[in-house]
Amino acid sequence: MNYGYQEAFTGLTDYNHFFVNGELLARFLQESGANIDRLTEMGLPVTVEQSEQKAHLDDPLVYHKFNNFAEKMVNWDKLPAKFTAAGNQVLTNTAAVDLEYQDGLQAVLAQTDEGEQLRIAAKKVILADGGYCGDPEMMAEKYADSAELLNLGERKADGTGIKLAAKLGANTNHTPVFGLVCLGGHFQKNLVENAIE
Ligand SMILES: Cc1cc2nc3c(=O)[nH]c(=O)nc-3n(C[C@H](O)[C@H](O)[C@H](O)COP(=O)(O)OP(=O)(O)OC[C@H]3O[C@@H](n4cnc5c(N)ncnc54)[C@H](O)[C@@H]3O)c2cc1C
Repeated sequence: MNYGYQEAFTGLTDYNHFFVNGELLARFLQESGANIDRLTEMGLPVTVEQSEQKAHLDDPLVYHKFNNFAEKMVNWDKLPAKFTAAGNQVLTNTAAVDLEYQDGLQAVLAQTDEGEQLRIAAKKVILADGGYCGDPEMMAEKYADSAELLNLGERKADGTGIKLAAKLGANTNHTPVFGLVCLGGHFQKNLVENAIE
């Protein structure tokens, strides 16, 4: 089989009806081999196999699937402890609600489920909140037929990231891109590529 970067780029662009962020897709594909190795190092190995999903039956044999789903869940749950052991902090049940910005980014303001307010000093922040498929108004703005879409996606993805970026004057214009499965908008360009400094 002859399948490399070019075939993957063309195939995914075509599959998504050209609703892709080309620059982001290019970077993703360039890193994909290294990411598969990283997944293995993290205890989340994957192997190529034929997808059982009907939409992918005729795809080239490049579909990666977790080797063992039960093991994957166990190893996934171990990741926060590894991250903490490396000197980092993991906050669960905590949502970023605002950014403090004055002469550059100063802090992320967050709130726990119990209502406790936190201020986390930070010079850079990556907004990776899953897009805005959980915000019906933002969806309606970008998709005229949003009321007819069945949202299977993450309801917590309420567009906080894009709203905070817009509040700071970031260019949040984008071509809406949604997944075949999650049917939710993903604001990709500024969130992923340009971490706010
Ligand atoms: C039913 C279903 C099946 C799927 N099947 C597949 C599949 O087989 N293969 C495949 O490749 N993809 C599949 N996908 C798609 C895939 O899951 C998503 O594309 C992917 O998870 C998106 O990753 P993400 O990091 O952008 O966002 P997410 O995985 O949504 O992560 C965003 C995280 O940010 C958190 N968050 C949101 N707001 C805040 C805030 N203000 N503060 C702090 N945290 C916040 C959310 O709780 C969430 O944990 C499927 C999706 C769905 C819904």
